[in-house]
Amino acid sequence: MTPSPPPAIIRGYDVLISAGHEGRPASCARFPQHSCNLGARGERTWNPIVANETMRVLRAHGVRVVRLPADFSGVYAVKLAVFIHFDGAVPRCSSAASVGYPANADPRFARSWKGLYGRYFPFGFRPDNFTVNLRRYYAYKQVRANAGAYVLELGEITCPAQHAWLAPRLGWVGDLIAYWIARVIDKGRVPLPANASVRVRRGSSR
Ligand SMILES: [Zn+2]
Repeated sequence: MTPSPPPAIIRGYDVLISAGHEGRPASCARFPQHSCNLGARGERTWNPIVANETMRVLRAHGVRVVRLPADFSGVYAVKLAVFIHFDGAVPRCSSAASVGYPANADPRFARSWKGLYGRYFPFGFRPDNFTVNLRRYYAYKQVRANAGAYVLELGEITCPAQHAWLAPRLGWVGDLIAYWIARVIDKGRVPLPANASVRVRRGSSR
């Protein structure tokens, strides 16, 4: 094999937001180096909903967001990278929310996310980096992020009680992530979303 050239560093964004498993399995053939993990049942629907809402709010507040699916090319130099997921577990309801980041990362921002989300999410957190996928997420090496790269597992989608709590709040969770990101990167002045009460989607109530 001829050595491949070093990847180009892509600049010009504050934040990278990737929706876990999004674009698979279609993208798998182009990224044979990634395992074609399709995620827990329902994740490929929920992850983009949350990621798109976070993107929308941040962009509305002047934050430059690159919004990516699960598989992407290149290396991004950003302030912060966030990979959106929900967990799946067997037996069900044996997991909860969690955060992953590279071993050498500063856990400060993971703590700040857990402090914020934990005010509302009633099912708690598993320890940081409690799975190999959190510790060694395949896309960490595609990011150079001053404030770090974090996998946010937002709850266990396979647990009926957590699913029921999360389902009407996906947009709100996206808003909360946008608020946290803006604080971490100190840009955008995104307001704290209203409390954890169910947000009715615009146009869906009459
Ligand atoms: Zn996932």
